[in-house]
Amino acid sequence: MKLSDQKGLVIWMLGLSGAGKSTVSNLIEAQFQKEHIFSIQLDGDELRKGLNSNLGFSMDDRAENIRRAAETAKIIANKGIIVICSFITPLNEHRALAQQILQEMYFEVFVDCPLHICQERDVKGLYKMAQHNTLKNFTGISSAFEKPENPDLILLTANLTAEQCCDQLYTTVSAKINSIQLA
Ligand code: ADP
Repeated sequence: MKLSDQKGLVIWMLGLSGAGKSTVSNLIEAQFQKEHIFSIQLDGDELRKGLNSNLGFSMDDRAENIRRAAETAKIIANKGIIVICSFITPLNEHRALAQQILQEMYFEVFVDCPLHICQERDVKGLYKMAQHNTLKNFTGISSAFEKPENPDLILLTANLTAEQCCDQLYTTVSAKINSIQLA
């Protein structure tokens, strides 16, 4: 699999906190590295520490978070690089915004994991805080998450291992990259 010099791709991983976005992103990045394909990760938590540090978790701020992330991804992907984005992206309008910015480079992956499993995993201890009301506007608890309407791929992370999810993603993205090249 080779990516042409001109065309990049943005793999937009969305889903609840703890669904597995970062875990699968790390695995696919390593897989790309093995194949000598250059990719870059953009992660919601990381962007919120810097570029988006002035944003909170209201729906307006969440939309602005996504807009800045998508515009950043666009600049990078326009250089022919694969960008792997991990953002909760809770509403359909946020996904539509990212797609509008990224156009045909947008490849939507729903990292699908039931809320109760994410709560059990509670990787960062945030669900516990949200349940005890010490964290406001937390997605799935006190802030909405809409099921995506038409993702390019769904990864069922509660039923499969992270490695199996990465394999599925790699296979689907390879096909997409090949189709971009042929276009
Ligand atoms: P997110 O980035 O969506 O907030 P993380 O990747 O940080 O989620 O955390 C997901 C957790 O779920 C990790 O502890 C990971 O090991 C675990 N996990 C179990 N099965 C899977 C899977 N199939 N895919 C991804 N993560 C998984």
